[in-house]
Amino acid sequence: MSKKFTTGTLCVQGGWDPKKGEPRVLPIYQSTTFKYETSEQMAKLFDLEEAGYFYTRLQNPTNDAVAAKIAALEGGVAAMLTSSGQAANFFAVFNICNAGDHIVSATGIYGGTYNLFAVTLKKLGIECTFVDQDASEEEIAQAFRPNTKLLFGETISNPGVMVLDIEKFARIAHSQGVPLIIDNTFPTPINCRPFEWGADIVTHSTTKYMDGHATAVGGCIVDSGNFDWDAYANKFPGLCEPDASYHGLTFTKTFGKGAFITKATTTLMRDLGSIQSPQNAFLLNIGLESLHLRMPRHCSNALAVAQYLSNHPKVAWVKYPELEGDKYNELAKKYLPNGSCGVLSFGLKGGREESIRFMDSLKLAAIVTHVADSRTSVLHPASHTHRQLSDSQLQEAGIAPDLIRFSVGVEDPKDIIEDIEQALR
Ligand SMILES: *Cc1c(COP(=O)(O)O)cnc(C)c1O
Repeated sequence: MSKKFTTGTLCVQGGWDPKKGEPRVLPIYQSTTFKYETSEQMAKLFDLEEAGYFYTRLQNPTNDAVAAKIAALEGGVAAMLTSSGQAANFFAVFNICNAGDHIVSATGIYGGTYNLFAVTLKKLGIECTFVDQDASEEEIAQAFRPNTKLLFGETISNPGVMVLDIEKFARIAHSQGVPLIIDNTFPTPINCRPFEWGADIVTHSTTKYMDGHATAVGGCIVDSGNFDWDAYANKFPGLCEPDASYHGLTFTKTFGKGAFITKATTTLMRDLGSIQSPQNAFLLNIGLESLHLRMPRHCSNALAVAQYLSNHPKVAWVKYPELEGDKYNELAKKYLPNGSCGVLSFGLKGGREESIRFMDSLKLAAIVTHVADSRTSVLHPASHTHRQLSDSQLQEAGIAPDLIRFSVGVEDPKDIIEDIEQALR
């Protein structure tokens, strides 16, 4: 859509702008392939001389419409969908890192991303230094090396619900001549738009609030178009120097602000796969149509639960950034003035054992490996998602052994609190 609409309208109508007689609803282009009339037409697509669809591993019209909606919501210039949030974070990093390179990341990030950075990237020859996101700019800057290619963090960390000082991280990244990549899964662009605070690339696990109904795993990468790759051309040869697999084309010269996403699509997606299925993109789009309605309800429900828990004698501690007195309340007021997310964490007096017993007693809230969908769910990260981490790694990631991750849905808050009450009893 050409006109600048606001977020709520973009959620409903962004990305798909049907012309006369075309379907009102975004169709599922359930086709692996696309037809051409001459061999020459197809050859031009392979050489990136013309834009067009030829094979769904690289691009599909359904996916592109949904990616365009998310790009508009984040205020970016280009976006691509991936098969999962894991693929989105991997591609965002691997698009600008080679063997022998180094990255810096906040410690308080999703367990899957932590493993990707600490274990799997290492096998590919890319090293990660983890930093305390609350440390001073000087301390964090010490983690950088001449071969550092990016800084990474989560707007609200999963599951520690720590709020990142995005402006501080952007200042550090830019003073080191590297982009800031922000995983914005938990707040979604409804509650925070990291580009407005200096982030360069945003990633999402669309599996969470964007889909919102726990129906489709997916991811997304959005580029702000703001990072000047050519100003640091020797650091980013993949973007700024001729690419041998495309007859010596240079991405920044040919695609300008679209360089990052075009390279990820035409080299990483081409070689590694991980496209989101058009069917899943269709489901994601339906989720996005109500994102602006669901997020405020998730947030008001979660705040009610957090307030209830923090007044309960059996509860040892509660973390929720919107709670007065929470360590991250000031940062939340700055970056998340309209609400944060529906996820909170807490521990019970009696520790790990008591927390597990409580979870097993819940009736409405279900034990599932998921967060951020319409149904209230609960998980014990130390026994589930973060099982691979040692006790000291857990501590660094901000996860106490008794931490219960509670993902508040959009049900009636009275029923959610009553369920917690009976389980605590
Ligand atoms: C779930 C999650 C991921 C991984 O996404 P998948 O879609 O499960 O692959 C990445 N980052 C955050 C913050 C997440 O919550």
